[in-house]
Amino acid sequence: MKYIFITGGVVSGIGKGIVAASLGKLLKSCGIKVSIQKLDPYLNVDAGTMSPYQHGEVFVTEDGAETDLDLGHYERFIDENLTRCCNVTTGEIYSSVIKKERHGEYLGKTVQVVPHIINEIKENIFKAGERSKIDVAIVEIGGTVGDIESQPFIEAIRQIYLDLGRESVMYVHVTLVPLIPNSKDQKSKPTQHSVKELLSFGIQPDIIICRSDSLLDGDLRRKIGLFCNISSDLVIDNPNISNLYEIPLVFEKQNLSQKVCKRLRLKYIKPDLELWRTFCVRVTNLKKKIIIALVGKYVSFPDAYLSVCEALKHAGVYLDVLVEIKWINSDYISQENTKDLFGDVCGILIPGGFGIRGFLGNVIAAKYARENNIPFFGICLGLQVMIVEFARNVMKLKNANSTEVDSETAYPVIDIMENQKNEQNMGGTMRLGGFPCEVLRNSRAFDAYRETQIIERHRHRYEFNNTYYEDFVFYGMVFSGISPNEKLVEIAELKERPWHVGVQFHPEFKTRPNRPHPLFLGFVKQSLVFFDS
Ligand code: GLN
Repeated sequence: MKYIFITGGVVSGIGKGIVAASLGKLLKSCGIKVSIQKLDPYLNVDAGTMSPYQHGEVFVTEDGAETDLDLGHYERFIDENLTRCCNVTTGEIYSSVIKKERHGEYLGKTVQVVPHIINEIKENIFKAGERSKIDVAIVEIGGTVGDIESQPFIEAIRQIYLDLGRESVMYVHVTLVPLIPNSKDQKSKPTQHSVKELLSFGIQPDIIICRSDSLLDGDLRRKIGLFCNISSDLVIDNPNISNLYEIPLVFEKQNLSQKVCKRLRLKYIKPDLELWRTFCVRVTNLKKKIIIALVGKYVSFPDAYLSVCEALKHAGVYLDVLVEIKWINSDYISQENTKDLFGDVCGILIPGGFGIRGFLGNVIAAKYARENNIPFFGICLGLQVMIVEFARNVMKLKNANSTEVDSETAYPVIDIMENQKNEQNMGGTMRLGGFPCEVLRNSRAFDAYRETQIIERHRHRYEFNNTYYEDFVFYGMVFSGISPNEKLVEIAELKERPWHVGVQFHPEFKTRPNRPHPLFLGFVKQSLVFFDS
């Protein structure tokens, strides 16, 4: 098995995750089996306890890990379900080493960063590769070279080269080539400095990928090659581009897959990117445009809803329509301004969320959708909002609520799950990951899925309170998805509406560019019908 390590330099946020995902896409398209892992230098054990303002969305894997949002990019690009091994944090490494120390596993030795932490990191890198039985493991190191936090990771990947040898390990360094505004000059110096920093840790990059406003000019490429010790054709352009899915194609124009295969002595077969290319062409030539409202607390920070946005995009491209998202802060919604806010939208989506803030605004949005026949899609918290709204306004259960919002409510139509009641720890303790669900025939959900057995990913502590099951059914709610074991409500919908659907899971984690998620497809389809009517 071979390893490609991806490091970053100059500044953070230059799209290392997309580079890793794109490289994975290219190699997979050459017939190579790949997996992608992210090493995150922070001390949180996983991303689950972090606010969306810090790192954007928490992505959930099929096996129930709460991970960095880059794993979402990886899954969408390489079209593989990743596992909890694919995201490792410093917090996780230290917890494991300290646990072993408490068990006496180090046999009296002084436990130190070198070698114990480094060895633990290496084990985690090897373990992820072996588990997934692949040819090439791509490993992205979070942060930038030179950060104090990431040094143990850099040392670990340096040692792996020593352990496995040149044919099994290569390094890709992603840097920024800034443009000085007035002189219109692209500058290579920051790249030179960051490569120097990387060299000081004993790592010579094999390929340098330069993020820039526009393509690099030839002289600059030669200069970067010369001063960073690589041939200039291994300096790869990564210009700003609005459609992320085009990046593998931009790289392939520069023969990146061939260069990587040559370096790692992998058999090279020209990548088959036809379907991907078709998707990208469609993205730029969409016939219609519709506006869908996305209602939530973190709307000033769209990364918090990254997979939802991608899922809408995938469904839109499939239906040849550009889905423009209208971001609506649930805090600012009142009975008086609904017309102003939602007057021009063809669909309303309420995604996942936590806590009290913005809940009432969400309920008002769900009511407006129901009363005006606007296609409505509630995801996780969105389903809970839909249930509360229906209880209050249709069933006339005064002040019905979720106990997450009001623990004293007379009608707890959404309540904490039994097995969550005594849970004290916050991290990794929700109902997490893929669970089976049985879909009722003769429902909107079945129309979308066309199958009765599905598996969807979850991340929640609260649930529909089954004490009220019959009452809701009496008033016209259809529970069209139920978990076979615990009998939890997973999908709810209104019979009388073209699309008023809520799901307790997160379908957005399973969408793919050329395989939009069936529920997003159903929702966007109905939004288009609404647009045309
Ligand atoms: N806060 C709700 C719960 O814990 C919804 C969670 C979510 O939307 N992911 O059940």
